[in-house]
Amino acid sequence: MIKLLNVTKVYPNGVRALQDITLTIEKGEFVFLVGPSGAGKSTLIKLLFREESPTYGHVLIAGKNIARLRKSQIPILRRNIGVVFQDFRLLEDRTAFENVSFAMEVLEHSKKEIQQRVHHVLNLVGLKDRIHCYPHQLSGGEQQRVAIARAIVNRPHILVADEPTGNLDPETSKEILKLLIDINRSGTTVIMATHEWSLVNRANNRVIALDKGKLVSDGEKVLFAHEG
Ligand code: ADP
Repeated sequence: MIKLLNVTKVYPNGVRALQDITLTIEKGEFVFLVGPSGAGKSTLIKLLFREESPTYGHVLIAGKNIARLRKSQIPILRRNIGVVFQDFRLLEDRTAFENVSFAMEVLEHSKKEIQQRVHHVLNLVGLKDRIHCYPHQLSGGEQQRVAIARAIVNRPHILVADEPTGNLDPETSKEILKLLIDINRSGTTVIMATHEWSLVNRANNRVIALDKGKLVSDGEKVLFAHEG
């Protein structure tokens, strides 16, 4: 369902962030994307929702070369890919409910549908009692749960999370990972970039490792456990 074919990304300043990456991620997989800072994890994730485009090679999603999408089709691609970031990126002047419903309102849904769906996803991420709180009234873990609810509210096929636990303590990080695993079990393909080996080692998932823009391993075995 996601295919990278000989993807190289060179930024305008000459940095080669990804070099000749070829990989396939099947529908329904949970994949960790690991590697030290600067390895190219964020760049790879940005290619998936066309925040960046490859310099060479192709990115295919559901068989479609996403470089060929017309401008008008990009929102459709992005609706099918939920994105979660390390810094949550919530709107500070909106409640948890409003942050999530805002992601839905741009589509065509009735008020009632929006109400039901937003309540459902906030319930799913464990925030039933925090619906009307503003981000500053929520802990980091709770804010990330709102961001995850927002990312899944439109039922995307793919959820990408770029260092989603980077700002969270170890206990909260484990809970967020558990939530992402639950979302994966409900059928969503999940790609999670992280450099936290303790999390990777907790789950027995596929691990794609990048280093200096190159794919250095792809499999279940963690080869870089020494990175702590
Ligand atoms: P990671 O997410 O693994 O830390 P990144 O994909 O952010 O890695 O970065 C890979 C390399 O590309 C780094 O050397 C980084 O400095 C560089 N880079 C990332 N974004 C840009 C950009 N917009 N312009 C120029 N260089 C960039």
